[in-house]
Amino acid sequence: MVKLAAKCILAGDPTVGKTALAHIFRSDGAHFQNYTLTAGVDLVVKTVPIPDTSDSVELFIFDSAGKELFSEMLDKLWESPNVLCLVYDVTSEQSFSSCGKWLEKARAQAPGSTLPGVLVGNKTDLAGRRTVDSAQARAWALSQGLECFETSARLLRKAPPQPLDSSRSFPSDMLLCPSPAEHLVTDATSYFLHSSL
Ligand code: GDP
Ligand code: MG
Repeated sequence: MVKLAAKCILAGDPTVGKTALAHIFRSDGAHFQNYTLTAGVDLVVKTVPIPDTSDSVELFIFDSAGKELFSEMLDKLWESPNVLCLVYDVTSEQSFSSCGKWLEKARAQAPGSTLPGVLVGNKTDLAGRRTVDSAQARAWALSQGLECFETSARLLRKAPPQPLDSSRSFPSDMLLCPSPAEHLVTDATSYFLHSSL
């Protein structure tokens, strides 16, 4: 039985719904702890089983609040990430255009390795106000090696996600890391993100 740890950073413009999503990650569950650090950073710690094994990953999700997003402190908080969750708001073209900047900033924190991650378009409940086209987002995500999802933290809160069938296979683009241990981390993180979104 192997227990691994992975650091997941939440990136995206203010108000896109990062904290709302982190709260949903946190709320489904049996195994979690949650700390609010004095720096205004929410750290959600959750143990995620790796399907079809007895192994698990302790996922540390870093959600930085407000002003930290623009401060030098972010570099410190984001040091050595294992996986990225990049969020934009489907009603804000601006938040989608910022994704490139956030991705660059996040990947600069993981030099020499490919930082695996997902792109999440949030607030799909505001369908009438959508300005970011799904196909456009998907194409960009693909070009950057990111998996792509759309969701609504608001709707998820009303109907929490069900755990996925553990026999589901993982997308191959989440398996970019060279070492077996890193494979397990990305497997579990992908599973976690799939079952949460
Ligand atoms: P953050 O700054 O990225 O952490 O964003 P927050 O999680 O604080 O959310 C910003 C605002 O957007 C809050 O008023 C949330 O209630 C709202 N919000 C978050 N997710 C959704 C969503 O899926 N749909 C709608 N309609 N509002 C949302
Ligand atoms: Mg927040």
